[in-house]
Amino acid sequence: MKFVPTQPPLTGETLDSLTARLQERGEPAFRAKQILDWVYKKRARSWDEMLNLGKPLRAWLADTFDLSPATLVLGKQSHDVTDKLLLELRDRSLIETVIIRAPQEGVGLDHSRKTICISTQVGCAMGCTFCASGLAGLKRDLSAGEIVAQLLQVCYREDARTPRARAELASFDNIVVMGMGEPLANYDALIRALTIVNAGWGLGFGARRITVSTSGLVPQILRLAAEPLGFRLAISLHGATDDVRTQIMPVNQAYPLAKLLPAVQAFSAQHGRMVSLEFILIEGVNDSLEQAGLLRDIARDLHAHVNLIPYNTVEGLPWKRPSATRQERFADVLRAARISVTLRREKGGDIDAACGQLRLKTERERELSALHEPSVPTPL
Ligand code: SAH
Ligand code: SF4
Repeated sequence: MKFVPTQPPLTGETLDSLTARLQERGEPAFRAKQILDWVYKKRARSWDEMLNLGKPLRAWLADTFDLSPATLVLGKQSHDVTDKLLLELRDRSLIETVIIRAPQEGVGLDHSRKTICISTQVGCAMGCTFCASGLAGLKRDLSAGEIVAQLLQVCYREDARTPRARAELASFDNIVVMGMGEPLANYDALIRALTIVNAGWGLGFGARRITVSTSGLVPQILRLAAEPLGFRLAISLHGATDDVRTQIMPVNQAYPLAKLLPAVQAFSAQHGRMVSLEFILIEGVNDSLEQAGLLRDIARDLHAHVNLIPYNTVEGLPWKRPSATRQERFADVLRAARISVTLRREKGGDIDAACGQLRLKTERERELSALHEPSVPTPL
């Protein structure tokens, strides 16, 4: 049997909560900042590295907190610029974290813009019919510490990539909460995690470079609009009418467009920043020119950016992506109206980078080998 620690992850603590724990033990207030510096600024991977803390304190920390609640079990680099990490949590749940590199002219991959895509749940309860993450329903929410730990795992991996990166400590440009799960259905853990990611004593990452993607939970969109940290918002629209949207996204029954669009409008008004509308193009479902025209009207009203994503095939699901010509025709309707639109080139298709697919495959492989004693994964 594998040892499963029951301590809470250190990466879920805020400066205040850690200070309070340490004060209960009679430690001076500055200790919390020292410990968090080891984790986020120096990227220590064991308690023993924290040399300015006495041995008894390090022993207490090791007893009290789990330093790293996520272990890298698989790192897959695709032929393009996507790097996918499969992480295992203490209960053997699997989650995915993706690094997307956008190379900049003439400077090579080491200096590319990096976007990190993180997960917020194991599985998803929303039941979108096209999505691998939701196929087996929701297993559980991630804790704040598990959400933050994904970013540290990315940092460790990036630090080790090149001597130069190691010397400088790797960083990234954007965080998108677009991995597995519906982030707004795990609201409190999400906000706590993003607060830690944003804080000066944490990863120090600007809120304006963090985008939260939702399938459209209206009350939580309004709650997010009122948060003091101004995170960006992306809406997974995928249908420009209720009938198309309801066909592929059950959430549209509770929050149809007449409720969703005003909430998005309210969010934009509060933040003064462009919201993104994500629109997966699925052949014969939402890729007609009529849908394109209606999407154009919605984007214009909301003054929103549109991200068109050619559908990534999921094993066992019937949906297909439209031809390149059809994708372009759809995009042209929006371009002609001067809507800000990107038609995403497929990234990471060769490493199952679409939402939840690598996990699904690994879970299926695990089921097949279920007769064997589960082995302890080899950290990379
Ligand atoms: N639950 C949130 C965030 C995670 S899903 C949401 O739905 O917004 C992240 C994005 O991946 C969403 O826009 C989702 O619709 C998209 N996605 C899911 N399955 C996909 C597939 N097979 N091909 C392309 N995009 C997919
Ligand atoms: Fe959940 Fe998003 Fe997938 Fe829908 S698209 S099932 S909300 S992860």
